Amino acid sequence: MSEPEQIARDLNESPQPERVRLGAELGHPCPDCGGKMVLRDSVHGLFYGCRAFPRCKATHGAHKATGQPLGTPADTPTKRARQAAHVLFDQLWKGKALRGRHRGHPEMKRGEAYAWMAEAMGLTKDEAHIGLFNAEQCEQLRELLREHFPGLTESLPVT
Ligand SMILES: [Zn+2]
Repeated sequence: MSEPEQIARDLNESPQPERVRLGAELGHPCPDCGGKMVLRDSVHGLFYGCRAFPRCKATHGAHKATGQPLGTPADTPTKRARQAAHVLFDQLWKGKALRGRHRGHPEMKRGEAYAWMAEAMGLTKDEAHIGLFNAEQCEQLRELLREHFPGLTESLPVT
């Protein structure tokens, strides 16, 4: 049995993690303002959002079915690395707005772009989310993107 198969089997056999109720607090403070992060629901599914929203827009991923937190909130260097990775990566599938300026890169649907990322980085679909990456993985993704899609622009949005 390969390692991914073993991991998948272990996951299937582990007891179902407890469902988190809406409004429950994340075990970490908001990485931006130090406030409390609570579980919320949205059209995109469950996520942890800062209680100071809309003043603070920090979010943290939650498992879609159970609301269990995904990964750990990022410190500033990790957040910057994730932003920088998103700037490049999102151009793969937000091609419409960028078309013309970035001729030559293939147009992908969002799902195709994420499938490409998973394959290029050797991750499962569930792992292939920039929000789960550490700074090193973000840099790895940026290098892969530069290598495969030389037409992407590097400039960061002003924050
Ligand atoms: Zn906050």
